[in-house]
Amino acid sequence: MNLNKVKISEVRDIGPKREIVLNYAGIFSVSDLLHYYPRRHLDRQTIQTIGTIQDGMGEVTLIATLFESMKIPGKNRQTRLKASFSDNTGILNCNWFRGGEYIVNKLITGEEYIISGVPKYFGGWTIDHPVLEMIDSEKGSATLNQGRIIPLYPLSGELTKNSIDSRTLRKLIRNALDQFSEFIEDLTPVNIRKEHNLPDLKTAINLIHFPEDNVSKNTALNRLKFDELFHLQLIMAKRRANVKLIPKKNKIKSSGKLLKAVYEKLPFELTEAQKKVIREIYEDLKSDKLMNRMLQGDVGSGKTVVALLSMLMMIDNGFQAAIMAPTEILAEQHYLGFHKFCEELGLKITLLLGKTKKSDKEEVLSDIKSGKSNIIIGTHAIIQKDVKFHKLGLVVIDEQHRFGVMQRGDLIEKAKEAPNLLVMTATPIPRTLSLSLYGDLDISIIDSLPAGRKPIKTAKRTENDLLKVYKFIDEEISKGHQAYIVYPLIEKSKKLDIQAAEEGFKYLSEEEFPKRNLAMLHGKMKNAEKDGVMQAFKNKDIDILVSTTVVEVGVDVPNATVMLIMHCERFGLSQLHQLRGRVGRGKDQSYCILHVGNKVPDDTSERVKVMVSTTDGFKISEEDFKLRGPGEFLGEKQSGMPELKLASLLYDVKLMALARKSAFKLIAEDNILKNYPDLRDFMNKKFEDKIKFLDYS
Ligand code: ADP
Ligand code: MG
Repeated sequence: MNLNKVKISEVRDIGPKREIVLNYAGIFSVSDLLHYYPRRHLDRQTIQTIGTIQDGMGEVTLIATLFESMKIPGKNRQTRLKASFSDNTGILNCNWFRGGEYIVNKLITGEEYIISGVPKYFGGWTIDHPVLEMIDSEKGSATLNQGRIIPLYPLSGELTKNSIDSRTLRKLIRNALDQFSEFIEDLTPVNIRKEHNLPDLKTAINLIHFPEDNVSKNTALNRLKFDELFHLQLIMAKRRANVKLIPKKNKIKSSGKLLKAVYEKLPFELTEAQKKVIREIYEDLKSDKLMNRMLQGDVGSGKTVVALLSMLMMIDNGFQAAIMAPTEILAEQHYLGFHKFCEELGLKITLLLGKTKKSDKEEVLSDIKSGKSNIIIGTHAIIQKDVKFHKLGLVVIDEQHRFGVMQRGDLIEKAKEAPNLLVMTATPIPRTLSLSLYGDLDISIIDSLPAGRKPIKTAKRTENDLLKVYKFIDEEISKGHQAYIVYPLIEKSKKLDIQAAEEGFKYLSEEEFPKRNLAMLHGKMKNAEKDGVMQAFKNKDIDILVSTTVVEVGVDVPNATVMLIMHCERFGLSQLHQLRGRVGRGKDQSYCILHVGNKVPDDTSERVKVMVSTTDGFKISEEDFKLRGPGEFLGEKQSGMPELKLASLLYDVKLMALARKSAFKLIAEDNILKNYPDLRDFMNKKFEDKIKFLDYS
C-alpha cells in the first residue's frame, strides 16, 4: 500500500469536514499526516508546579486543572476573561484582556491544561495571556496520555479556526499510526541505515509522534533528519554525475600564447592561492569531463584576473568564453578591465547588457553567433533566448550568490554546447550551506589576499561624531586618496533610496566638502552617466563618490581608502562586508566607518560588533547565518533549495556529512537508482523541478 495515495479520509475520525480543513494545511494523504511532525514535545518531567513558582524565574510551563472561569466587566466596556487553575500545589490565575472571546470556548471546567507564560505575583500567582492547551483526558485515550512526553503540533490559523488543535491531531495521528503503521515503507537502503545506526522509518515515525523518552525521541529525530539531508545530497550527487556524463566537446590541449602574453603583462605577481586555483582550472579544462567549479575568495582577493586567465585558455584553443555579472556597472568594469589587456592581442570583446540598444544589438548578436566575438561580457542578458553562440567553451558567473541557485541550472541547459562552468563568489558560505547549495560543484578557494594589504580599520560612529568623520575624510583626500559615502537601502522603495542619497549629496557638496569634487551614483541613472561617473572616479577626477548600494558588489578602485556607510543599521552583515570590500584593495591603510543613526533596531549592535571585530568574510557569513537563519540568509533568490522540516543547515553539520557520503556513494554505484525503484520514484516526484533520475546514458 502506498500511503502517499491513501486519502486521509481513510483515517478513523476524519470525516469530510476535517478532511477539508486538513487539506488547507497541506495534509492530503496518510503519508502527509504521518509526516506532520510535532513542533516540539512537552516533557512532563520538566513541568513545574504552581507551588514552586518564584519571582523572576521567567517563563514556566505548568499542568493544571481548570476549576473556574468568568468574564469580569471593566472600565470602558472592556471585559477581562479570568480563569483559575490548580495542580494540588497551589492556585494560578490567568487573565486575557483581549481576545477572551476566542479562548472562552476552549475552557472546560475539570479539564487539564498545559499553561506557559511568565508568572507575576498579584496577591497570588498570575499569568496574563498564557499559551494554553488542553491535554487529552477523555476516557479511552489513555495511551496518549500515558507517555511522559506529549507531542505539540504546529497549528496554522486554518486549523485552530476550525478547532483542530494539538489534542485533536494527536488523536488523528494516533489513529493513522494504528491503522497504517505496518505499511510505512522505508526508502532509504538498509545498508545505509545500518551503517549510520538509524532505526527503520516505521519506528522513527512512531517515535517522533509518541516517544517513550528523550533518547528515543532523539533517535527518531536523527533518522528523519538524515532522510531530509540524504535526499538533498542525492540531488547534488545526481547533478554532479549528470555533468560528468555530458560528452565534452570543448577540451583544451594547451594553455597557449594568449594566456602567456597577458600573464607577462600583469602589473603584479599572482598570489600562490591564485596560481593554485588557475592550475586547478587548467586541469579541469584539459580533462575529459566538463568543469563544474566554484571559486570562493573573499572580497578583494583577486578573482577577476583568475577568470580572465581561464577565459584566455579557452580562446587559445579556439573557443569563446563568456562572463556574466549581476549588475551593469560590474559588467562594464570587467569590459574596461579586460579591454586593457586584450585589445592589442587582437581579441574582440563584446558587451551585452539588458539596455543594449536595439540598433546595436543586432550587430552584437551576430558577432557572438559568427564567432567574431571572443569574449562576451554581460548581465543575465547573455542567457536570453535570442543569444546564440558560435563555440562557447566556458561560462564564468561572477558574484554567483546574486543569481539564484536555479539560474545556474538554466544556464547549463540553455547553452546546448554544454560549456565549462566557473562560478565565483565573494560571500563565503558556511560549510554546511555550501555542501547543500553547491554540493554538486568542485570548490576552489583563494584563501589569502594579495601581498601588502593592510587589514581595513573599522569603527562605529554616531550622529555626533559625523563632523570629525568628515574632517578625517578630508585629510585622506589631501593625501591623494578617495572615499565612498554610501546611503542606506530603504527596502521596498528605490525612489526613497535615491532621495536619501541625493539629499546627502547636496548637503555634503555644499556644506561639508565645498572644495572637493563629489559625484553621485545610483541605479536609476542612465548608463552613459553611470559609466562617466565610474570612469571619472577611477581616473581620480572625483574625490568622493556618494552612492546608493549600487557600488556594493565588485566595484574596484584601489585608490579609495575610506568607506563611510550611513545608517549601517539598515544593512545586513553580508552587505556591510561587501561594501567594506570596496576599500582595502591597494597597499594603503583603509578605513570603514559605520555610522549608526539615533533610533536603531535592537540587533544593530550585534552586527556592528561583528564588523568591528573581524574582516574575515567567512566568520562574518557564519555570524550572518546565525543571526538571520537560513531562510533570510539565502534570500528569495535562493529559494530553489528544498525545504527542510527538521534538519538544520546550521547545526546538523555532522549528519550532513554522513548523508552526503552515503548519497554520493550510492549514485557512484547506481547512477539512475535502478536497484531502488521506489526511492527513484519518490525522488522524481518530490523534486521533479530539480532533478530527474532517468536512464541517462
Ligand atoms: P575580487 O576577488 O573581489 O573580485 P578583484 O579581482 O576585483 O577582487 O581584485 C581586487 C584588486 O586586487 C584589483 O585591483 C586587482 O587588480 C588587484 N589584484 C588582483 N590580484 C592581485 C595580486 N596578485 N597582487 C596585487 N594586486 C592584485
Ligand atoms: Mg569581483
